[in-house]
Amino acid sequence: MARRRMIYEGKAKILYEGPEAGTIVQYFKDDATAFNAEKKAVIEGKGVLNNMLSEHFMIGLGGIGIPTHFIKRLNMREQLIKAVEVIPLEVVVRNVAAGSMSKRLGIEEGTPLSRPIVEFYYKDDSLNDPLVTEDQIVAFQWASPQDLDEMVTMALRVNDFMSGLMFGVGIKLVDFKIEIGRLFDGDYQRLILADEISPDSCRLWDIETGRKLDKDIFRHDLGDLADAYTEVATRLGVMPKKSGGSTGPTLVK
Ligand code: UDP
Repeated sequence: MARRRMIYEGKAKILYEGPEAGTIVQYFKDDATAFNAEKKAVIEGKGVLNNMLSEHFMIGLGGIGIPTHFIKRLNMREQLIKAVEVIPLEVVVRNVAAGSMSKRLGIEEGTPLSRPIVEFYYKDDSLNDPLVTEDQIVAFQWASPQDLDEMVTMALRVNDFMSGLMFGVGIKLVDFKIEIGRLFDGDYQRLILADEISPDSCRLWDIETGRKLDKDIFRHDLGDLADAYTEVATRLGVMPKKSGGSTGPTLVK
């Protein structure tokens, strides 16, 4: 059997040509990177968890009418997705000050924001993904004003859905990053949610304790990343609870 063609290898995922035109197989690696790949490690099981979690979020978002690239999960590490032209912007939504915004503006991590803040970063590793303004985005033709309106609306809808989902399992959605792609249909284009949504691209804090359940654990050596992601997946019902817990068969007296 011919080996399938690799289209692109990124830091955490590999894209292969899909079985039909317009489709791609997205493979989730166990590799973790931070600080523009200055810090690297392989974390066993991370790819499987992110594949399952991203599937869960994309299906949920599709269910409230947000178009996504997700078609179906193929196996533990791969999902079939629609091929899109990814807009070279990272769209970040923040509910609570943290990370680069806290550093840049001197706002203490954990400060709740009076409204969600949407930010755009230009995707270019050689420039360290700089923060860009809407005027720059339009002037350099990374996206049109209409695209920007649609992207902000989509990002805020994703934020509402994801915040509620997380709140329901005792987790605060501090911030997250999404990527958006263009899907062409003849002369028309549609913007759809692409890439992944997983604890690699969100900040997730336990509501009770403030414990971090996301990639900051890896960035700042705060513990076992796979354990934290497993906890998120278990709380959401995406992964079965560990055996030995209280969910197994109970003895009938
Ligand atoms: N983020 C991401 N990929 C990036 C940069 C940021 O997924 O290349 C996510 C990050 O995990 C966090 C949010 O976007 O949930 C905001 O990140 P921030 O700007 O605070 O940057 P960081 O602290 O990660 O440098």
